Amino acid sequence: MAKAQLSGKAQLDSKEMLEKLIGFDTTSHLSNLELISFVQDYLDGYGIGSELIYDAQKKKANLYATVGPADVPGVMLSGHTDVVPVEGQDWDSDPFTLREQNGMFYGRGTSDMKGFIAVALAKLPEMLEAGLKAPVHFALSYDEEVGCLGAHGIAAHIGHQHIKPKLCIVGEPTSMKPITGHKGVCDYRCHIHGKECHSSLSPYGVNAVEYGAELVAHIKSIARRLQKEGPFNREFDPPCTTVHVGVMHGGTALNIVPNKCEFELEIRSIPDQDPVEIVNEIKDYAWRHLEPHMKDIDPQTGITLQEEVSIPGFSIDNSDPAVLFVQSLTGANQAEKVSFGTEAGIFHAAGVPTIVCGPGSIEQAHRPNEFITAEQVTKCERFLSRLLTRMTEEMPF
Ligand SMILES: [Zn+2]
Repeated sequence: MAKAQLSGKAQLDSKEMLEKLIGFDTTSHLSNLELISFVQDYLDGYGIGSELIYDAQKKKANLYATVGPADVPGVMLSGHTDVVPVEGQDWDSDPFTLREQNGMFYGRGTSDMKGFIAVALAKLPEMLEAGLKAPVHFALSYDEEVGCLGAHGIAAHIGHQHIKPKLCIVGEPTSMKPITGHKGVCDYRCHIHGKECHSSLSPYGVNAVEYGAELVAHIKSIARRLQKEGPFNREFDPPCTTVHVGVMHGGTALNIVPNKCEFELEIRSIPDQDPVEIVNEIKDYAWRHLEPHMKDIDPQTGITLQEEVSIPGFSIDNSDPAVLFVQSLTGANQAEKVSFGTEAGIFHAAGVPTIVCGPGSIEQAHRPNEFITAEQVTKCERFLSRLLTRMTEEMPF
């Protein structure tokens, strides 16, 4: 869609705002700047300035904006602007054109997570009329889906401020249930550099595929031990850290001893466990048990492990005042932990008590014909209206 031009105060309801946001193809590998400049223009129409925090190539940006008094701690509404690719998925309609049918809004990012951003932005006129005693901050990020890269820029920006928000609500799709923790995610790429030769001479070569398989088998034994012996945190399902190899490549022909093998592994850690310990265990096995055999044949061979993605886990105590406050807005008195990663750990570690709570369902995320129900949009509108009402009083915690 062409860059939307907004002049003056654009009045958009949640659905109209969602339609605009879905119209920008912000798949993570593309720029998000058109969407960001649309939001910047929209806020500007109401006299709200935005700060943009760019990536190194200036192709993408986070947006941070404050509505209400800036000299007291407020509430940060956080959402990522990027979406996952639609390539290879069978959609019934254009994923970047909002389609409404039977009380559902279809489009890439409707649940994950332009739905929350749309409702929050559409509340701007209400925020300005409310007479807020504490500010609302919009914190829109880039590159969440490829490792929460943009959120670090927002966390650094908050770190430089004298007054930090008192609460951050990350509006990932939780069906408007407050989520108080999730696992950390660590992705690694492993390269095995072997030595090629004719398969009839295999003892003189270094078979990268076989060494890769030995390492993967060891990783599986670690996964089994974690599942059997823990540590456990029963708030999560499964209750332990999981380790898994999802992709593996190697070899070109049966009569060649392969010189290359590559695999990707993922560690999803409970907050009670440091994933680095597991990575070190894998490295130790690779370097102390496998590499010596490889280097006996050729010292140029070896194994390297490279970190690709690291999303910190997050956990906030269920009795934290921030949790009780969000529960008072949703009407839910329970809080849950989930296994999917979000930016929450990054903001929480930056000193802002964080809860994940947003409209739509994670079941819909990343799928063809992703949708959000109108009922979830309404629930989120009511949630934010209650939040704004509370913020016209003294901040309750
Ligand atoms: Zn998301």
